Amino acid sequence: MHEVSVAQGIMKIVEDEAAKHGMSHVTKVHVRIGQMANVVPDALLFAFEGVTQGTLAQGAELDIETVPAKGRCEACGIEFDIEDLIFFCPRCDGVAAEVVSGKELELTEIEGD
Ligand SMILES: [Zn+2]
Repeated sequence: MHEVSVAQGIMKIVEDEAAKHGMSHVTKVHVRIGQMANVVPDALLFAFEGVTQGTLAQGAELDIETVPAKGRCEACGIEFDIEDLIFFCPRCDGVAAEVVSGKELELTEIEGD
């Protein structure tokens, strides 16, 4: 399951950050995940719960912020929301040249003591 490796990646950053800030216990972890990052939030929550067992983040809450997918039209340059993975510009029917957001997978904040 893809989400397990994502959760393990998050956990590694959490451990690094906790060490950096002298935390011995992490209670909450905030992440931003793009709609196009291919991560199912429920599956990630479940995986996170698993990988945090026996770590300093055991029982920590995972707060997932979903970042909408946006593309930039190569013909007219506007940015638009990508819905249902349809990449066509609503103004001119051009094809998105570039995905400008929606692939994020980042840890934004951890809380603990
Ligand atoms: Zn366009």
